[in-house]
Amino acid sequence: MEIQAPRGTYDILPPESRKWQYIERVIKETAERFGYSEVRFPIFEHTELFERGVGDTTDIVTKEMYTFIDKGGRSVTLRPEGTASCTRALIEHSIYSGPLPVKWYYNGPMFRYDRPAAGRYRQFHQFGVELFGSNNPYADVEVIQLLVKILENLGLKDYELHLNSVGCPQCRERYREKLVEHITPVKDQLCPDCQSRYAKNPLRVIDCKNPGCLEAIVGFPVLYDSLCDDCRQHYNTVQEGLTGQGIAYLHDNQLVRGLDYYTNTAFEIHLPQFGAASAVGGGGRYNGLVRFCGGPDLPGIGFAIGMERLLSAVERTGIDWEKDDLQVFVLVPDEHNRNIGLEICNILREAGVRTDQDYNGRSMKAQMKQANKRGARLVVIVGEDELAAGQFTIRDMVHKTQLTVPKEALLDRVKEILQ
Ligand SMILES: [Zn+2]
Ligand SMILES: [Zn+2]
Repeated sequence: MEIQAPRGTYDILPPESRKWQYIERVIKETAERFGYSEVRFPIFEHTELFERGVGDTTDIVTKEMYTFIDKGGRSVTLRPEGTASCTRALIEHSIYSGPLPVKWYYNGPMFRYDRPAAGRYRQFHQFGVELFGSNNPYADVEVIQLLVKILENLGLKDYELHLNSVGCPQCRERYREKLVEHITPVKDQLCPDCQSRYAKNPLRVIDCKNPGCLEAIVGFPVLYDSLCDDCRQHYNTVQEGLTGQGIAYLHDNQLVRGLDYYTNTAFEIHLPQFGAASAVGGGGRYNGLVRFCGGPDLPGIGFAIGMERLLSAVERTGIDWEKDDLQVFVLVPDEHNRNIGLEICNILREAGVRTDQDYNGRSMKAQMKQANKRGARLVVIVGEDELAAGQFTIRDMVHKTQLTVPKEALLDRVKEILQ
């Protein structure tokens, strides 16, 4: 039986990998310019980190975690997202006692054990940022601005920013009561998930992907009306800041996050091409998370972007991806001169020229064909007669011309033509 990649995973092969490198480079450069530094954390963690840090009533934790028992009998989980690991690392290394705020970004594969479907993988990729140690609403503005800038720098100008405030635990408790009151009379019309969780966590009903649930609770009270003075002030300042920065947003009453440690600002960024229901990225403030995970009372805010969806959006802009065509092919007609060929390769490679030669003992004609296939701009011919005279022939594959140069002049001429 032929071995294939596991279900829900996929290979990223050249030239596709070039595209990934490109969007990763743009994103990282943008984040670095905003003062963020990269953090790399393990691919797997103790299962309880995610039960605690992601929330044991979320779909991720109840249904989708990639969990297994290792040989030591410990329950470990392949990371489903990045925030919990960042928080764990922040606490474990006492980063919070250094200069604040801490600004981190991460990028890499995440995992969920889910039924694979179109665009949903068991191994997928996320980029994210976390800002720990400031509750200033302008920190929210800057984090959102970074998300917007990343999209813009990738040529995605046509986005929709959704914004809401989920308040603090106090105003949310008031809201929860109002919401339960509104939902209870129609609870029989809800999906089974919502029926079992609405009393404990009615915000999840607003969040439910089942359209029947939202219909059932039509006219539901909105969180904004329950915000306390501090939370309302925070939200207003974030809105002023975004407007001041020329960032358009939509206030979205449906954008709620049901977990206790989420506070204040919540946001999502949508690309209309993917339909209304699908955000390419999103995040928010989580002032309760660090303490909830056993650390000090430290505020935080962050977001994550789904890289698969982002790449497909960038693809649809009709971008001209950078090509990785070979620049020079070194053609060696006589196998016993292969070492000289390698030496020429290395001189060019050292100078930053993408260079290769043949390793399959092809004839001169076949090597020339190979150079063409690989898209080489120039071919350097290491011919017996030329070598005797200390010379090499450079063939220009575009202009179909060639010239002969002494070894000392080879590199300069190659660079000249490539420019
Ligand atoms: Zn509040
Ligand atoms: Zn539901």
